[in-house]
Amino acid sequence: MKRVVVLGGGESGIGSAVLAKTKNFDVFLSDKGKISDEHKKILAQYKVDFEENRHTENKILNADEIIKSPGIPDKAPVVLKLKEKGINIVSEIEFAGRYCDAKKICITGSNGKTTTATLICFLLKNAGVNVGLAGNIGKSFALQVATENHDYYVLELSSFQLDGMYEFKADIAVLLNITPDHLDRYDYKLENYVRSKFRITQNMDDDDCFIFCADDTITMAHIEEIVLKAKMLPFSRKTNIIQGSYTENESLFTKINNNTFSMLIDDLSLKGKHNIYNSMAAAITGKVLNIKNEVIRQSLSTFKGVEHRLEFVLSVGGIKFINDSKATNVNSVWYALDSINGKIVWIAGGTDKGNDYGEIMDLVKEKVHAIVCLGVDNSKIISQFKSIVPVIAETDSAQNAVEKSYELAYPGDTVLLSPACASFDLFENYEDRGEQFKKAVRNL
Ligand code: ADP
Repeated sequence: MKRVVVLGGGESGIGSAVLAKTKNFDVFLSDKGKISDEHKKILAQYKVDFEENRHTENKILNADEIIKSPGIPDKAPVVLKLKEKGINIVSEIEFAGRYCDAKKICITGSNGKTTTATLICFLLKNAGVNVGLAGNIGKSFALQVATENHDYYVLELSSFQLDGMYEFKADIAVLLNITPDHLDRYDYKLENYVRSKFRITQNMDDDDCFIFCADDTITMAHIEEIVLKAKMLPFSRKTNIIQGSYTENESLFTKINNNTFSMLIDDLSLKGKHNIYNSMAAAITGKVLNIKNEVIRQSLSTFKGVEHRLEFVLSVGGIKFINDSKATNVNSVWYALDSINGKIVWIAGGTDKGNDYGEIMDLVKEKVHAIVCLGVDNSKIISQFKSIVPVIAETDSAQNAVEKSYELAYPGDTVLLSPACASFDLFENYEDRGEQFKKAVRNL
């Protein structure tokens, strides 16, 4: 019996173990940390042998194949040993893809993956399609392949997932944008990160569609040299596109073959320039799948957005509060600042991932009249912005940050939590940071 070892007992690992078990492999799951009770229950239900708080090498190095959680870096000692032995290491998506003949719509990019994947899934559901949403969102792809039966999947794929994918093929691939992120996992080489993102196009045939942003310089600098068989369907806010999507005056147009879809940008429910891009990617997908214009229009104008992404919380005393806790890099902060009219009190900070604030300096100077730092070490933000922002305060809890911002804001202002940093210094994760922020706002 072929032995499959799953490394990592998170959402994707548990799903992989269940799927492998239902395919009658000899399955073992190992996690160096703790496994949640909820996940242990599932492992027990499917009679999966597992360990936690350690990696027992003689139970791992005898595997025929490894399914590795994207969270475990390639440099982890156990991974290095597996590589030395030449054991095949794949990601959950690669493994589950072997057992799934549904059509796969795959979304990657540095920013906007969750928003766009969720929007496309919403659109397909509105069109009556039996669709599952997976990847980095909700229930894992592997678990759904094991226990559900969908005709289509929308998969959100991080570069770490893509790194463990070889034979997998997307029917429709969306690459939203590429800005430097996670470079620590790519030997600090942008080139390696770019290659990883473009893996989303590997194995595509002439009939498959590649949807990408023609305004993204890094994407465009690499697209030609990476051989692509797929149908190329770009989107752009700057140039007219023959097959794909573009904006002109106040409208968005999408043209596929001889069929055009159009709607007013103002009618898109998601606001901000970045969301015009995300909406164009969704509109192209809809047209490729022959979804009716009316359904596409209705979906793009009623989609509610995803929590913690430019999420409007409340207005208190004429001051708007926006939760953008998921903005953990500088590029997403740029789009947040750009999307807001009027003056801003900006809550920023946390664990810095090597941020270069250059690209937002002008917007901060123009719009931000106070910064409220929310992190353990705020020295970088203070030194970067003290010459252009008149007031900078330091806080170490969401509650204090909200109270301080409320004190500093004037009626008509927006208080924006868009941290540009990871959350792990003060919070469990970005969701925790966003929840605490919203709670504090509601308590004002
Ligand atoms: P991801 O899943 O790629 O992390 P999300 O949809 O969760 O992306 O959004 C993360 C952050 O990026 C949010 O602050 C959101 O407002 C912002 N964002 C969303 N779409 C884009 C885009 N196309 N370009 C830049 N920033 C974006």
